[in-house]
Amino acid sequence: MAKRMNWQIGREMDYPYDSTPPKRQVAYIFDTNKCIECQTCTVACKTCWTSGKGQEHIFYNNVETKPYGGYPLAWDQKLLDMQGPGEWRKVTYLGNTVFENHSPLDPPIGHRPVIEDYAAPNIGEDDTTGLLERGGFFDGVHPHWMFYLARICNHCDNPACAAACPRKAIYKRDEDGIVLVDQERCRGYQECVKACPYKKVFYNVIGRASEKCIGCFPRVEEGKVALCVESCIGKIRLHGFLTTQDEPREDNPFDYIVKIRKLALPLYPQFGTGPNVYYIPPIHVPDGFLEMMFGPGVEESKELYRNLKNDKKLLGALMLFGSTEYMIDRFEVQGDEVVGWNDKGEEVTRVPFTEPTVIRDHRDERFGAFRHNTN
Ligand code: SF4
Ligand code: SF4
Ligand code: SF4
Repeated sequence: MAKRMNWQIGREMDYPYDSTPPKRQVAYIFDTNKCIECQTCTVACKTCWTSGKGQEHIFYNNVETKPYGGYPLAWDQKLLDMQGPGEWRKVTYLGNTVFENHSPLDPPIGHRPVIEDYAAPNIGEDDTTGLLERGGFFDGVHPHWMFYLARICNHCDNPACAAACPRKAIYKRDEDGIVLVDQERCRGYQECVKACPYKKVFYNVIGRASEKCIGCFPRVEEGKVALCVESCIGKIRLHGFLTTQDEPREDNPFDYIVKIRKLALPLYPQFGTGPNVYYIPPIHVPDGFLEMMFGPGVEESKELYRNLKNDKKLLGALMLFGSTEYMIDRFEVQGDEVVGWNDKGEEVTRVPFTEPTVIRDHRDERFGAFRHNTN
């Protein structure tokens, strides 16, 4: 089994699939503090990519409530139970990843959801107190906090789905790191469904093949952000590229937020797949729970977020979220504005730090009416 460096767990690890890192890696940053679980992203993706027969249960994008929501049901708790306890020593994960748990000849550990796990996408959602009465995998009392977790395929550095496929029908694109299923090669063994720790591969019983988020690659090829990103009501999402073959760049918003400042963190880095959706953790949730989900950088990340008003460059990078339909390659704070350019050097966004205030006249002469909300 090949060894490869996994920067998210601070060490080398086993990975049973021979592939070279892409030229650049598609990535997403989601700010959990801003998500309102309106599901606009879910609907935007669903209506565009998965509205056909056999795709009823397929949500490339879903938004669930933590700690007790999840789609498919208990996707993460089941794997955490299988994986067993794991310990971090500072930034190094000492436990086993999904690739290291057993014999090198075996596929990654995982579980295949049953049909009932896909039956109720939002069961257990939005509850913070009281008992879950039905369908839940947890029968305790909810603590007094929750947060919304938007989820798509992570277009992982080390995709477990690709590693598990006996047909080699799943591949990672060299030009951008997007992970795709070759539907012609797929024979429906569903090993990918079992292996993906995030349960972001789905089996289509009508098409008799597996399907997953395609990273909106036709849009990416035009330099545009994904549909789930552009449609996001809360402007919680940023979509672009991490530098893979050179040092992280201070002027690339992804390198800056993820690698240099470490404000956004990977989801369950201990699984070992190197996920490329990075989350700014919710600052109201206890550290212990968040460290289980996002690794050891939670405390520092929350501190950075609380101090944003004194950190103009980082705040500027966050103001790029939801500001343009184009992917931003470079950004800079210029006075009281943050400016973003695409990879052709064209300016694609300019956002003021302070929104201009417009006070309307009490009397609207055009309609011959008085306004009552002008103070
Ligand atoms: S559209 Fe944005 S704010 Fe709404 S649920 Fe999706 S991620 Fe959250
Ligand atoms: S999240 Fe799952 S489906 Fe997506 S690349 Fe990673 S292992 Fe594959
Ligand atoms: S990147 Fe595109 S295909 Fe993937 S979840 Fe978002 S909208 Fe759907």
